[in-house]
Amino acid sequence: MSESHNLPQNATFEQIGEVLRNHQSFVLISHVRPDGDAIGSQIALGYSLLAAGKSVRLINEDGLPDNLAFMAGAEKIERPPAEPLEVEVAIALDTAAKPRMGDRALHAASKAKIWLNIDHHLSNPKYGDLNLIDSTSPATGQILYQLITALDLPFPAETRDAIYVAVSTDTGSFQYSQTTAATYEMAADLLRRGVDVGTLNSKIYDNHPYRRVELMRALLNTLERSPDGLVAHWDLRDKTRLDLALLPEDSEGLIDIIRAIRGVQLAVFFEELVDGKIRVSMRSKDRRVDVCKIALEFGGGGHALAAGIRMKGPLEEAKPLVLAAIRRHIEAAGL
Ligand code: AMP
Ligand code: MN
Ligand code: MN
Repeated sequence: MSESHNLPQNATFEQIGEVLRNHQSFVLISHVRPDGDAIGSQIALGYSLLAAGKSVRLINEDGLPDNLAFMAGAEKIERPPAEPLEVEVAIALDTAAKPRMGDRALHAASKAKIWLNIDHHLSNPKYGDLNLIDSTSPATGQILYQLITALDLPFPAETRDAIYVAVSTDTGSFQYSQTTAATYEMAADLLRRGVDVGTLNSKIYDNHPYRRVELMRALLNTLERSPDGLVAHWDLRDKTRLDLALLPEDSEGLIDIIRAIRGVQLAVFFEELVDGKIRVSMRSKDRRVDVCKIALEFGGGGHALAAGIRMKGPLEEAKPLVLAAIRRHIEAAGL
């Protein structure tokens, strides 16, 4: 990534448009353990650029997760090739910090002359040459919708459906407080353009593998709630992952189960990762407790109400550190 001019300001749509128009070859990357907004954003912008006659590669460090394989255009998502790609422009999508793209993905994009950084994470330090960071947007997919329509770029069916999936998954099906009138207006426009909501929603939400339900059962057995009822947390150990032959995406969204408990203001999910690190997922229901700030204390990031950390293990050491930080923030907020 070029160190020369780290712009503190956002680029305009027109400046981004100029880069897209004036170059021919692109690599689009999103974050490790990609979610619907990550893959959806890659497909959305990728297929628009393909329809505009560009050469486009869609790279993700972890490849395409099973739960998103239904998406039209998903077959273009590749794991990083060993050799750097001959591309002019690299575009980071939905990725809060540069290392979150993964080492192999960054290596694959290392010959790019220009980096665009399009994202909605509050903690994004604007690591691109041109940045389009809108932390008021509930999903990167919604920023891309605005960009693609403003620049009058092609809007093929893959782009249309991918934007719907990106925004639906990042807003908890259009429920979270960041969902705005613009989000619903966008959704209405996507429907007018032909999105089949019933079929898409069924593929996103009613199609879980049985092992995910078994995981839920295992997680519930580890559930703990603080005496004041404000914090609920559970953990996923190596043994459960191996016993149930879990894939990383199987736990996606399960934290919403404990977030939904009455009285709980902070939900925390601890997970032992294959590499020995600990993944921490946090959700807040109270704006006064900003989980992004807590995550930043441990080198993580995210949004005020949803954030994450990857930290040093073992779980027995990581867990009390995070829970103590959460307690500090709860007390400081006067909850
Ligand atoms: P998750 O709990 O994994 O669903 O993540 C919640 C939000 O925090 C998402 O927007 C993530 O992109 C962001 N996030 C998760 N983990 C990290 C991390 N290690 N560093 C920065 N942002 C993260
Ligand atoms: Mn994401
Ligand atoms: Mn997102």
